Amino acid sequence: MSIHRPDLLAIPVPRYTSYPTAAEFGAGVGPGDMAAALAAVAPGTPVSLYLHTPFCRELCWYCGCNTGTVGRGQRLAAYLDRLGEEVALVAAALGGRGHVTRIAFGGGSPNAVPANAFAALLADVRAAFAARDALVSVEIDPRHLDAEWAAMLGAAGVSRASLGVQTLDPAIQAAIGRVQPLPIIAEAVRRLRDAGIASLNFDLMYGLPGQDMAALAATLADAIALAPDRLAVFGYAHVPQMIPRQRRIDTAALPDMAARFAMATLAQNRLTAAGYRAIGFDHFARPGDPLALAAAAGRLRRNFQGYTDDDAWVTIGMGVSAISDFPGAVLQNEKHSGRYHAVIGQGRFATALGVRRSAEDRRRGALIEALLCGGRADAGPLAADPAIRDRLAGFEAAGLLAWRGTALILADDAMPYARSIAAAFDGHRGAPATGFSRAV
Ligand code: SF4
Repeated sequence: MSIHRPDLLAIPVPRYTSYPTAAEFGAGVGPGDMAAALAAVAPGTPVSLYLHTPFCRELCWYCGCNTGTVGRGQRLAAYLDRLGEEVALVAAALGGRGHVTRIAFGGGSPNAVPANAFAALLADVRAAFAARDALVSVEIDPRHLDAEWAAMLGAAGVSRASLGVQTLDPAIQAAIGRVQPLPIIAEAVRRLRDAGIASLNFDLMYGLPGQDMAALAATLADAIALAPDRLAVFGYAHVPQMIPRQRRIDTAALPDMAARFAMATLAQNRLTAAGYRAIGFDHFARPGDPLALAAAAGRLRRNFQGYTDDDAWVTIGMGVSAISDFPGAVLQNEKHSGRYHAVIGQGRFATALGVRRSAEDRRRGALIEALLCGGRADAGPLAADPAIRDRLAGFEAAGLLAWRGTALILADDAMPYARSIAAAFDGHRGAPATGFSRAV
């Protein structure tokens, strides 16, 4: 991996899972934007669906997701009812246009929902959108994947599951409020494989409290032994001023920037040595995995779930706080569950936040996505922008990028800097921003 230049990583930057990013979302959009965006979907357009479960059985201290404890069953049942109503509402507005190719369930923990209720929801979604052949993926909390749930996934034809693993070190698990000994993870993997789930992803983290190189190396070795098809390795972003749950994490025990960079390097070295292909700046996949094939073919994309081989240009998010991504707008549902219930109960879309995309946003968004996915992009007229050239001068001097005419080409080992480089093209972010995580 590349040299460590902390000066070039000093400015926190967005993850760029959309452009404009969520930092630009405002209240200037509403249900009318959702109705217009759905009406504009042309027949046959590939469409992805995302359904949000804002519940977990236990809350992890590091987590910034919109989720709460499942608590009383009535709250969950009421939410599933509303979600079903939203599914019907969106499907009616889509009117059979669009071809639903993917259905993703995330959260929170979809497996906080009883197995039979989840199966019923999936069946309703498939029926409402005539999506019999859609590829279905589900995020899983391995601590609560019982045999019934795993069997249900197999019977329902779910083909991908993503497990929150994070770390396999017992002391670090205790320090982040997520205790899940290795045998629990191994059992979840066995159950999913036995159920016929074709593709498994592990999410891992570095930069955790008390984590050192040896602890990360041990986690990587254990993870590799379980042979997931894909892994995502994220740097822990400690922002307790924004995520109150993180106040339980000991700030003094967090690795410093140099240690974080060394850990990201270690993960890359161990995983590539084990036969995984590095995808973008934080994903890894077996060479024959669709994600690796998409990267090799220049078809890799980036959406709210990170790197993906999904080629749909429309994502429709349903559920509290879910985000929809259309060519002309990014739209987010109500984050407040009471308001979500009320609005959907009135038969209206729950769109509360978002941003309309200008033609310039679309150009810059495509450029940023190309840099993050393929390490190169044609900057067009922006290549001559003195402010952008100036902001990239340090990266150029460090050998992390080169200009060929208007084309910007990142060095092979520059991916840890890719978000920081891409931020130079962010037209919504002139001055150094706050509230984002560090790139490494
Ligand atoms: S990390 Fe996953 S299981 Fe833990 S609180 Fe967040 S969404 Fe729930």
